[in-house]
Amino acid sequence: MSGAFNQHWHFAIVGAGLSGACLALLLARERSQWNILLIDTQNPDSPTEPDHRSSALSASTVDVLQTMGLWSTLEAKTAAITAIDVSDRGHAGSASLNAAEQNLGAYGHVVENAQLASVFEQALTEFPNITCVKSPAPTAIKPRQAGMGLTLEQGDCLADLVVLAGGEHRPLAEKLGIGYRTYDYQRVALVANLTMAEAHDGLAHERFTGNGAIALLPLPGEGEKRVSLVWTLSPEQAEEMQGASAEDFIVSLNQQLGSRAGTALEADFCQCFPVKKIIAEEQVRSHLLLLGNAAHSMHPVAGQGFNLSVRDIATLTELLSKSYSEGIQPGDLSVLQGYAKLRKDDQGRTVALSDKLPKLFGMDEPLAMAARNIGLVTLDLLPPLRQGFARFGAGLMARRAQLRE
Ligand SMILES: Cc1cc2nc3c(=O)[nH]c(=O)nc-3n(C[C@H](O)[C@H](O)[C@H](O)COP(=O)(O)OP(=O)(O)OC[C@H]3O[C@@H](n4cnc5c(N)ncnc54)[C@H](O)[C@@H]3O)c2cc1C
Repeated sequence: MSGAFNQHWHFAIVGAGLSGACLALLLARERSQWNILLIDTQNPDSPTEPDHRSSALSASTVDVLQTMGLWSTLEAKTAAITAIDVSDRGHAGSASLNAAEQNLGAYGHVVENAQLASVFEQALTEFPNITCVKSPAPTAIKPRQAGMGLTLEQGDCLADLVVLAGGEHRPLAEKLGIGYRTYDYQRVALVANLTMAEAHDGLAHERFTGNGAIALLPLPGEGEKRVSLVWTLSPEQAEEMQGASAEDFIVSLNQQLGSRAGTALEADFCQCFPVKKIIAEEQVRSHLLLLGNAAHSMHPVAGQGFNLSVRDIATLTELLSKSYSEGIQPGDLSVLQGYAKLRKDDQGRTVALSDKLPKLFGMDEPLAMAARNIGLVTLDLLPPLRQGFARFGAGLMARRAQLRE
């Protein structure tokens, strides 16, 4: 291992979560001559809790997964969102969005993160130009003349481009003097899978309550009665809910769901994620790129974090491949700056919307309540606005990357 490990890699990706694995796969299929080191920094002796979240994959993400040849395997593990009901607890405003009305097959496809990760994991074994290593996080990262150096348990390695992928690798970026802007929403996203009394029929719910948002996303299988819950609560409420008996949990949840979203019968676990917006002040340097949660973490309300990363990954792969065919190596600063420039608008728009929605819906002042009810009613009445909302959610407002077919 160590001989091969000490070679000069085209790419060393730190973090084998969803973003890191997806990038490794897209790069590997784009150019077989690129050698890619994927460093899985999860400690097998103290593995982190399994990820019980589900992700709503946007049309732009499905498009990339199709190009990667993974969609045919994944599709059966997803549930299509064919309609969305947006409502405000205790207020008149509501909006119903229907994909067929807008000539869309679906607004998105929901997959459990564990399923997506296992499809990625299987695909990683199929590329001889990807080397996966398990290692604690690198202890040092240093710019070298010919690339970026990393110090790992296995020894030192050098890569044209080091990618820090995943939130836990922010400290490495900070070691290089890269700052972060953090906003703490003082909220916790409580995640659970629910069994409902009724079949979901592809309908997703986004319900705003005085205390935050509830999202119910359809999951595949079991008579279409399973849904993924994301319930945004204050840290105290989340702690209380996590500690509640199964019966009390369901009673409290059903009180918030009201009649619109159906009746929950059972919840199979609870997992909590602190909700913060954490944005890197720089995403690229010579031989360095920040990706996924290492570049931008946002409020989960709009379900955009991973989708945004996939659009980043697709554009990055396109630009690196194009410049490589012109003899330019992957860590070249001007290429990376070109990537950052191309991705700026989509990133800015997505982070801003994910930030504004929960703030507007979290307020109980009369003006804010009026604004959001008018907003919801307007959204329901005006087709162009609905179309715009749907195109944003589907990731179709962003430029489509040109990848090798
Ligand atoms: C409650 C909630 C709901 C969300 N819903 C959506 C949604 O519907 N749609 C959407 O696009 N985004 C959603 N997001 C955002 C999305 O989860 C993140 O954008 C995404 O997880 C970022 O992945 P990442 O790889 O960049 O970083 P991270 O999630 O920070 O993970 C990276 C790190 O986790 C570890 N890791 C995790 N899984 C594995 C694995 N299988 N194998 C090895 N290592 C692993 C690795 O150590 C890696 O370094 C949601 C976020 C939350 C909190």
